[in-house]
Amino acid sequence: MMEKQTTVTTLPRVLIVDDDAMVRLLAISALGQLDLDLHEAGDGAEAVALFQQQAYDIVLLDLEMPRMDGFTAARRIRALPGGENATLIMVTGLNDADSIEKAYQVGATDFVTKPINWAILRQRLRFVLRARNAFRSLQENEAKLLESQRIANLGHWEWDIINNRAEWSEQVYGILGLDPQACDASFATFLQAVHPDEQRLFNRAVSAAIEKGESYLLEHRIVRPDGEERHVVSQGQALPAEPGKVERVRHVVQDITERKRAEEHIFQLANFDSLTGLPNRALFQAYAGRILAAAKRDGTKAAVLLLDLDRFKRINDSLGYQAGDQLIKEVAGRIASCMRECDLAAKIHTVEDLPYSLARPGGDEFMLLIRGVDRAAGVAHFAKRLSDALAQPLSVMQQEVFFSASIGISLFPDDAQDQDLLIKSADIALGYAKDSGGGCFRFFSEEMNDWANKRIELEARLNHAVENNELQLYYQPQISLVSGRLTGFEALLRWWPGGGDMVPPNEFIPIAEETGVITEIGAWVIHQACKQLRSWRDRGYDPVPVAVNVSARQFVDQNLVKIIEDELAAFDLTPELLELELTERVIMRSLEETRIKLQALKEVGVKLSVDDFGTGYSSMSYLKRFPLDALKIDRSFIMDLVTDSNDESIIRAIVAMSKGLGLHTIAEGVETDQQRELLSSIGCDLMQGFLYSRPLPAEEAESYLLRLSDQHA
Ligand code: C2E
Ligand code: CA
Ligand code: CA
Repeated sequence: MMEKQTTVTTLPRVLIVDDDAMVRLLAISALGQLDLDLHEAGDGAEAVALFQQQAYDIVLLDLEMPRMDGFTAARRIRALPGGENATLIMVTGLNDADSIEKAYQVGATDFVTKPINWAILRQRLRFVLRARNAFRSLQENEAKLLESQRIANLGHWEWDIINNRAEWSEQVYGILGLDPQACDASFATFLQAVHPDEQRLFNRAVSAAIEKGESYLLEHRIVRPDGEERHVVSQGQALPAEPGKVERVRHVVQDITERKRAEEHIFQLANFDSLTGLPNRALFQAYAGRILAAAKRDGTKAAVLLLDLDRFKRINDSLGYQAGDQLIKEVAGRIASCMRECDLAAKIHTVEDLPYSLARPGGDEFMLLIRGVDRAAGVAHFAKRLSDALAQPLSVMQQEVFFSASIGISLFPDDAQDQDLLIKSADIALGYAKDSGGGCFRFFSEEMNDWANKRIELEARLNHAVENNELQLYYQPQISLVSGRLTGFEALLRWWPGGGDMVPPNEFIPIAEETGVITEIGAWVIHQACKQLRSWRDRGYDPVPVAVNVSARQFVDQNLVKIIEDELAAFDLTPELLELELTERVIMRSLEETRIKLQALKEVGVKLSVDDFGTGYSSMSYLKRFPLDALKIDRSFIMDLVTDSNDESIIRAIVAMSKGLGLHTIAEGVETDQQRELLSSIGCDLMQGFLYSRPLPAEEAESYLLRLSDQHA
């Protein structure tokens, strides 16, 4: 055995097997010009033994040899490691079909006949080598490609549209979590693995790519059979067989779940506070910027609240950091639930569906942004609730901790137009709150503070107005424009908080509505009116109806009908003596519910009138369907009646319509004879106003009943 080149092991290894030493010599000299690592063997057995030691790329194998012939050697070599890929060229003296066929059967790649034409053999080997190299680099590339696809978690697949067949790489199965043995690769199977919410999107992207012969790129989710969700990027290219005729689509799909998670984690770290999970200052500010820009655009208000725990350092020092951390978490929870409970919560949480309006910029501080603040009262109310909620003791590590929080509030655009200034203003306000001993809230502006303080006090007092007997009903006579006689009274509420000055209903009714105490107050009004009617009847006066005002919240209250029935029964009154005044705005709010409610009230037998008529928008078709008794023309039309012909025509229209519907018309706020005369000429039948009488306490109103009785007598 001899080696032509010893050092180069990367050269193709060629083994020349022939029992004729002369042939081997000739072969070696003929092939020596090629860059080959040449070896020789004297028979089949030696060839197999050599191959076993190290595989050869090409074996030139003589068929007829002693000990082991070429056929057997070829079969054995094919079975050895590396033998599968070797090129076996059979050298034979037999030029018959049988041998050739047999040679191929045992795995020959090619064959040459003796006597060997060395020039041709050289050419053949060149060709074989070129093919081998090309094949090998293809194999290497493919292996590299597969490896890199594996590393990149990248799968590729092809879809043959015409035959509706697909071929998936191993990674595709891996990404989809499917077993290659147990499932058929197809477009439908892939589509099925796409998240249900995104299947249509995916399908549309692929269809569009096919239609236009273009590519698509889509980020979507995959749901594995075990329910695990993966994030992937799918990319594909339609492959037109000829222009305009797409037969195949080549897709790649890459699992980017880990990258996504890392991104999310980074986002989380950069934008959120790890203790409470709340946004940090950076995210809050980015968010506030957007909200304020939107508020500026649509001219709405917003408020920034800065909240700081009082004497937190002391708690932290005495109970330890762990307790301090727990306290902060509890406080965050309380603020969040306060936001949820409060009327403002809906607004806070619907902000782009992200509760980013509550943030923890650090330490024991919290920041809140409330947008869509229509009235500052809402903010004051919320801040009060918040500081009350935070004044409740907390149990931290088996210890009861008493603490409180200070809150500073600034309003946009009143206090500042720009975000930084707004936060600074809230910070200054927070300083005021701390200066006043903590446990309270302060607005940035002085007027707001005065106003808010008064408002909060009023609210607290109003809650006890009924039990403290601070309410009283006044009665304003209603007069017939035809006969000049008393036809009824409107009951109007008066409040003297703590025995001080009277607060007008226009000031306290909206607050009572907001806090909900209106239902209690409203029930008291109905009770009081019935009580008065009974007392007048008991004292022998001719009965006239009393109208009470019913607020929005009271009207939708489930108990209203029952309350009225009970009071009428308790005082044994005929229901027509009670009249309910409902504002146009209230009854036009949700028409079908209103109709049902009015029907129920009508069945009780009380009278129903529409208050402040003309100030809202009435749906005529509904007015017709509502069981009403009267329309009260709003005072604003009566006010300028004599000078403003426009108002006159409105009143004419209302009166005409009212008559058409078979209803009475009452003019409110009649102050002059001129107004009365004009109203009378228009055909309005009832009036109420200072011209005849102001609202009066029951004892004084009685004189009108007395007069009525005299007229009758
Ligand atoms: P309203 O129902 O429109 O009541 C008529 C208001 O006009 C009353 O004001 C009455 O005093 C006033 N008024 C009557 N005649 C004249 C006049 O000739 N000139 C002027 N300038 N004003 C006149 P008041 O008593 O201050 O009540 C204001 C509003 O408060 C009422 O408007 C009503 O919406 C509400 N309110 C009063 N009492 C109650 C109540 O018991 N329940 C509810 N829910 N609301 C009430
Ligand atoms: Ca009224
Ligand atoms: Ca009115």
